[in-house]
Amino acid sequence: MSQPPLPKIMFVGAHQDDMQGAAAGLFAKLRKHLDYEGLEVTLTNGAGGHQSAKYLKYPDELIQRRLLEAQTGAKKLGFSYQLLQNTQGQTFPDGDLQITRETKAAVWQAVRQFQPQLLVTLPVNHIHDSFGMHNDHTNTGEIVKRIAYLIAAPLAFPETYDSSYVRSLNGTEELPYVQPPFIATTHDGYSGQIEPDLIIDITDEISTKAEAFYQHVSQVDEWLPWVGRYPKPNNVNELQERLARRSAKIAADFGLKDGVYEAYTLTAWGSIPSLEDVKTFFPGDALGYEMAAKKLALFQR
Ligand SMILES: [Zn+2]
Repeated sequence: MSQPPLPKIMFVGAHQDDMQGAAAGLFAKLRKHLDYEGLEVTLTNGAGGHQSAKYLKYPDELIQRRLLEAQTGAKKLGFSYQLLQNTQGQTFPDGDLQITRETKAAVWQAVRQFQPQLLVTLPVNHIHDSFGMHNDHTNTGEIVKRIAYLIAAPLAFPETYDSSYVRSLNGTEELPYVQPPFIATTHDGYSGQIEPDLIIDITDEISTKAEAFYQHVSQVDEWLPWVGRYPKPNNVNELQERLARRSAKIAADFGLKDGVYEAYTLTAWGSIPSLEDVKTFFPGDALGYEMAAKKLALFQR
């Protein structure tokens, strides 16, 4: 007898290390509760995330290096990795990700091909957010938001279909229907004004998260310290402590005791989940799913 297909979870990020920094704790925790297939995709090629003149001369070397780091980092969480491209096979630039037909088509096609039940992406920042924003992060969230409704629409981006596939159709068939996933946003270091619905306790997963993030040597050891995000960690344990400290603000905001947390916000961009779905995909909510239930009730109105 054939096994039923595994549930699928997709992360859509801007950069190669976004998933490890923002959602690795949840995905590692979920592994203990659920057997699932994971796919991480990123929209930009990562060519802007370094200070070395070598990479100004040879940007492909950085793109290649970050691709390898992304594959290793994703593997630590049991995910596969894909760098998105336009229909001509070109990648999208780092630091200047735009909401265009090309970037929307790339995400739309990746979601329709993978058909996840849950999609996690980066938060959309309000332009008036006094905490500022990262152009690529907020535009990634925006792109997902704007294509969410279109996931079910097979004719939305016809340029993404292979011409041989189109020729093979006799024209009387229906194109495949793809159910839009349930979509949640995570919180990154750039989104200060957060309104999370779920605060996931990842205390037991912080070492896995640090280990996955630590694979991004070009960022953790080189770029992020250079650009002033934080001092270079001497080892993975120091990185782990730093990631844990980053969650202290979330804990304080919600009156939580010691522990490490990741925050998530539910959206009604795609399919609306049931409370059971939320409990299945987000185990260990420190708020007892109280905020999540309130948000879902809002979606039902
Ligand atoms: Zn990023």
